[in-house]
Amino acid sequence: MRPGRFAVIGAGLAGLACARRLAAAGHAVRVFDKSRAPGGRMATRRVEQAAWDHGAQYFTVSTPAFRAVVDAARETGQVDTWSPRWPGGEQEQRELWVGVPGINALPRWLAEGLDLSLGTQIVGLERAHRAWTLRDDTGRTFEGFDFVVLGLPAPQAAALAAGHGTAAVRLAAVGMAPCWALLLAFERPVESPLDADWSPDPVLPWIARNSAKPRRSGLDAWVLHADAEWSREWLEAEAARVTAALRARLAERLSAELPPVALAEAHRWRHARVIRPLGEPCLVDEGAALGFCGDWCLDARVEAAFLSGDALGARLEGWNDD
Ligand SMILES: Cc1cc2nc3c(=O)[nH]c(=O)nc-3n(C[C@H](O)[C@H](O)[C@H](O)COP(=O)(O)OP(=O)(O)OC[C@H]3O[C@@H](n4cnc5c(N)ncnc54)[C@H](O)[C@@H]3O)c2cc1C
Repeated sequence: MRPGRFAVIGAGLAGLACARRLAAAGHAVRVFDKSRAPGGRMATRRVEQAAWDHGAQYFTVSTPAFRAVVDAARETGQVDTWSPRWPGGEQEQRELWVGVPGINALPRWLAEGLDLSLGTQIVGLERAHRAWTLRDDTGRTFEGFDFVVLGLPAPQAAALAAGHGTAAVRLAAVGMAPCWALLLAFERPVESPLDADWSPDPVLPWIARNSAKPRRSGLDAWVLHADAEWSREWLEAEAARVTAALRARLAERLSAELPPVALAEAHRWRHARVIRPLGEPCLVDEGAALGFCGDWCLDARVEAAFLSGDALGARLEGWNDD
């Protein structure tokens, strides 16, 4: 029996968890991601004076499988706990984890040792004689894969897999919502006794002082996440308008005059949060030699992404070419 040749598209936590399982089982695995770094929505934006985790803010751990990974990552200094100051005292009873010095430390660490092709946006898949060929946006091709894993948000996976196999209907039933994120750094610290706050605000439900997380340095940096419905309405708005609207709302939420802004950047997540999950850990289409994983299979959380990728890897690790 020869090892399988797997292409994993997407180096977010789900794709990485799947790739690690398959590689550990002895298969040949190549991971592709369009970004310059692994991590997907576990993303850190860094400039000289400041840094922001502009996607996932923190993660929680509720299963032994993810606990084992987080414990190992902590031993090597990749993650730590975060105890933000909430308004009016403690609001969050669970242990909150973050990567250090950025949330992307965990996926970067999980990517170590994998055959990773970054800056490679896959735009086409073709299968002939039981072998897959991938094509990227520059026309390059990558040939000879037995199996393709799509570790992408469901709408992107659906677009890439269109015309192949039977997963389209299941993928179309998954719901994901957008989110505008605003990254701000102030010339002086914001005078507020809180580091994080969630409230059912119709514009700005989440605000966090990113620089209050462990091992951060630089300016007082804040991450604001707009409401899903608001983000949908403002999806095609100019970044400058989004910046002005969310910054004004921050001042209202903090009931404070904000210090001068040193840096501001709006980031649009088109497929940010799962609102209607698939309801099972992963999807496998054996006939088409396609597998699907991602947070959207289970829940809008980092741990769900890991569990989905790990489950898909476990389903496929016994692959053989019979
Ligand atoms: C604003 C926001 C706030 C969040 N807050 C939290 C939180 O506080 N706690 C929490 O637990 N979770 C949070 N989440 C959710 C968490 O980030 C996700 O559940 C998790 O990171 C998803 O991982 P994934 O691997 O499924 O997908 P992704 O991380 O989206 O990975 C998909 C990867 O595929 C790549 N890709 C896409 N298309 C292509 C292509 N054609 N070719 C090559 N590569 C491609 C992308 O670059 C990306 O790296 C948040 C998410 C967002 C956006």
